[in-house]
Amino acid sequence: MTIADNLAAVRARLAAAAAAAGRNPGEVTLVAVSKTHGIDAVRAALAAGQSVFGENRVQEAAAKYPALRREFPDLELHLIGPLQTNKAAQAVALFDTIETVDRPKLAGVLAAEMAKAGRRPDCLIQVNTGEEPQKAGIAPAAADAFIRDCRERLGLPIAGLMCIPPADESPASHFALLREIAQRNGLAALSMGMSGDFETAIRFGATQVRIGTAIFGARG
Ligand SMILES: *Cc1c(COP(=O)(O)O)cnc(C)c1O
Repeated sequence: MTIADNLAAVRARLAAAAAAAGRNPGEVTLVAVSKTHGIDAVRAALAAGQSVFGENRVQEAAAKYPALRREFPDLELHLIGPLQTNKAAQAVALFDTIETVDRPKLAGVLAAEMAKAGRRPDCLIQVNTGEEPQKAGIAPAAADAFIRDCRERLGLPIAGLMCIPPADESPASHFALLREIAQRNGLAALSMGMSGDFETAIRFGATQVRIGTAIFGARG
């Protein structure tokens, strides 16, 4: 299977899952997660019509994407991994969406860096739906206040929410919780679902699915 074959298969599954949920497939953005894979793999996906990509590390994205962006002006890049405050300026310059706003200190630094750069990437707030101590994200009980602070005090362009459910649990209740928090805060974007569970995520309202392995193969 080539990357083009894999992409076609994932797009077909995405469309089928949307149709089964009574949704328009155009409402679900496929974010191709290219972390650990080289520029040639990204090029193969671009050649197959994919334009939205996700990376989890700022340094890796900075090494791979600026040249590709010059060549493919429609390319859109999402940060899907934890962001350290000392890399916030670089992230604001490099990404179109930052999916991992997960704590007040980072939110404040991002607001300052956006003001400085005059560039405002969309932001998603990462919610730690499973309340796992080792995982990033704001606790569900603290989410409403954090969302309000990000929007009203800091003026961040908050588009929606993102979650990574616990690996050892069925993801449905986590997707439902993320949707509920988004709905009561009037947020439209829901980034949830990976290679193993994106069809379930689409059933629960995902507007962005982040898919690596099913497109690019196993990570080395
Ligand atoms: C790596 C990663 C993905 C993609 O996972 P696959 O199982 O390879 O599809 C999605 N989201 C995040 C946050 C990731 O780090």
